Amino acid sequence: MAFEGLTSRLQNVFGKLRGKGKLSEEDVNEAMREVRLALLEADVNFKVVKDFIAKVKEQAVGAEVTKSFTPGMVVIDIVNKELTELMGGTQSKLAKSNRPPTVILMAGLQGAGKTTSSGKLAKMLMKDKHRPLLVACDIYRPAAIKQLQVLGEGIGAPVFTMGDKTSPVEIARAGLAHAKEHGNDYVIIDTAGRLHIDEALMEELRQVHEVANPDEVLLVVDAMTGQEAVNVAQSFHSQLELTGVVLTKLDGDTRGGAALSVKAVTGTPIKFVATGEKIEPLEPFHPSRMASRILGMGDMLSLIEKAQSNIDAEKAAEMERKMRTAEFTFEDFLEQMEQVRNLGPLDQLLDMLPGMGKMKDMKNVKVDEKQISRVEAIVKSMTKVEKQKPEILNHSRRKRIAAGSGTSIAEVNRLIKQFDDMKKMMKQFSSMMGPKGPKGGMK
Ligand code: GDP
Repeated sequence: MAFEGLTSRLQNVFGKLRGKGKLSEEDVNEAMREVRLALLEADVNFKVVKDFIAKVKEQAVGAEVTKSFTPGMVVIDIVNKELTELMGGTQSKLAKSNRPPTVILMAGLQGAGKTTSSGKLAKMLMKDKHRPLLVACDIYRPAAIKQLQVLGEGIGAPVFTMGDKTSPVEIARAGLAHAKEHGNDYVIIDTAGRLHIDEALMEELRQVHEVANPDEVLLVVDAMTGQEAVNVAQSFHSQLELTGVVLTKLDGDTRGGAALSVKAVTGTPIKFVATGEKIEPLEPFHPSRMASRILGMGDMLSLIEKAQSNIDAEKAAEMERKMRTAEFTFEDFLEQMEQVRNLGPLDQLLDMLPGMGKMKDMKNVKVDEKQISRVEAIVKSMTKVEKQKPEILNHSRRKRIAAGSGTSIAEVNRLIKQFDDMKKMMKQFSSMMGPKGPKGGMK
């Protein structure tokens, strides 16, 4: 899947910052060195990387670290905002003509996924109750017309063709007239591609452009080709004013460089992304969502925002210290549980965590709020001393706690066992990690 390498590298960098109480200039420099390498490895244009790092650094060094926002979070927040900006900031929507039909010219090299994307675009428009007409102007590639016809049939969209003996310019002209006559509110013109950009291709596109007078010129590029996709976009843009890019094959093993560089290098926004060979609706491109996906955060950023207004960072840091030194008591346990509950219903929180969205799709994952209330009741039935020194919890104390909390001794025993196991694990973990990070190897 796209971005995996970049995501895991960035998470590593931010993981190191997370534990920091304060960020020095050196910390920022070190983190930015790694972010820079991660972006270069993801095949992002080197000039884009340079500008990006400069912008993030400038903000990160002087950033105000508020009480409830740890320095690591501040940097993540800045990187997220700059990534979003890099990809165009806000979503660029498909143009809509005041005088229908809205005409969309699809351009691109052969094999980029132009015909497939034309079908996906039609499907997307049909989902919104539009009536697109597909126009087959690729008269050179064998079977291109047939491909569009089959595809149109599959989704129930009309396809206008005149065979491969008429010039693309004539087909475009006649296709437009057909659309007006038949009340199609969108016309999608599938043009011919070439293996390389050449003058003949550009000349033909210019001519079709002239008769069709499109509201959108969408360049279809293959994300798997990385920087090459960006070069292609740049060449097309210099000859033909593009209004948007469709980035295809994002399901493939792409490193993400194209998605991150196209807008910055060409000034043309990505409007849609495509995944898969099946004709599904084209997906609108949202820079902010893509940024948080690249950061591997699911909707972590909303969660950070929520936590920011609900959790006291000083308390959280103290809790983390206690966990590391295994001083963690039942009192801390209760406090932590309450803080988490203050954030909102647990299943909603799970939704925001990376990877959890998928799990919820399985539908059988349900957070048992009742179970959590019972655990809370048990802890609340303990005396202060018992919470701090769970080792004194003998049978009679456990019996009293069970009665007081309206639970059973078995439940009380289970909770104490879980708590003990957790403490043991923390102890092991902290000896393995040391105060600064992995020392390597188990002890
Ligand atoms: P065109 O020459 O630009 O019109 O390209 P086609 O639409 O014929 O696509 C070329 C090949 O790429 C076909 O085998 C498509 O099934 C495949 N393809 C197109 N878009 C995608 C995509 O988003 N993901 C994947 N995995 N394959 C795609």
